[in-house]
Amino acid sequence: RAKSSGKGRADLYDLALRKAASEQAALEGAIRQGIDNEELRAFYQPIVGVQNGRVLGYEALVRWERPGHGIVSPAEFVAVAEQSDLICDLDTWVLQRACTDVVSWNGDLDRDQVYVSVNISARHLARSRVTTDIEAALAATGLPADRLVVEVTETALADELSSVQHLHRLRELGVKIAIDDFGTGYSSLSRLQEMPADLLKIDRSFLDDNRRGWREVLRLTVGAAHAVGLRTIAEGVEHPEQLATLRRLGCDAVQGYHLARPMPAGAVPAFHRASLIG
Ligand code: C2E
Ligand code: MG
Ligand code: MG
Ligand code: MG
Repeated sequence: RAKSSGKGRADLYDLALRKAASEQAALEGAIRQGIDNEELRAFYQPIVGVQNGRVLGYEALVRWERPGHGIVSPAEFVAVAEQSDLICDLDTWVLQRACTDVVSWNGDLDRDQVYVSVNISARHLARSRVTTDIEAALAATGLPADRLVVEVTETALADELSSVQHLHRLRELGVKIAIDDFGTGYSSLSRLQEMPADLLKIDRSFLDDNRRGWREVLRLTVGAAHAVGLRTIAEGVEHPEQLATLRRLGCDAVQGYHLARPMPAGAVPAFHRASLIG
């Protein structure tokens, strides 16, 4: 009896595993189709200079307009795409879209050319195709390399030796590198100097005023970044008091709901014009 119920449990476990695997496969297939059918969208969130309040650039954030599901957030499908090389195609779709969009916006501006910031997954960064994907997007759109920022996480750098080599190659091209979500991995300030990067994006958990000494930690992080030549961007700025603190601490740029939420590409030109006046 005991034996058979044990086996029954094993079968159930097996069934659950197989169900999870087939759901993963189905979602992967749907994402693949979504890319082919042009169901992906790039939304854009402004990155604003702290000193002058100018919009310096826009971060491209993927959305999936999945038929029958409305607008799906990346939290619900990027991790699934990251289980296979599908993520390389997803990243590349966003990259090409973002370069195309920013070239058209900059064409309408006679000054203050903005940059576009694109997220590249750890898995994609480790593949040799990442540099050709980026070079191809720059060549196809004519975007100057220094108007493109590539966002990678610190854990992506620790994973694979090839990733660091790819970043060096990108920097040779003139592309700027941002370390995304800094402070969420096993980061230490002493490792900052080894990072082949230009910008440090400080994770929004650093702005949590429930944490003891958060201002001091922020001050030290900004100071350490500046000491090794990295500019700083604070993520997740939701309140005016946070902005005031960041200005006092000398943080270079901010991004967050207090300034603007991510918006569809079509909304950017009007937003940008208003920001130049205001
Ligand atoms: P991320 O790169 O760290 O992007 C910042 C996330 O914080 C975005 O979420 C943004 O909407 C959100 N955010 C911005 N301001 C605030 C704020 O004031 N408060 C709060 N609570 N959140 C704020 P989103 O768009 O849902 O993207 C989530 C993550 O998905 C991104 O985090 C990034 O890791 C990933 N992702 C998005 N697009 C792509 C892509 O094209 N490729 C890859 N590989 N990953 C992507
Ligand atoms: Mg990012
Ligand atoms: Mg981030
Ligand atoms: Mg973050």
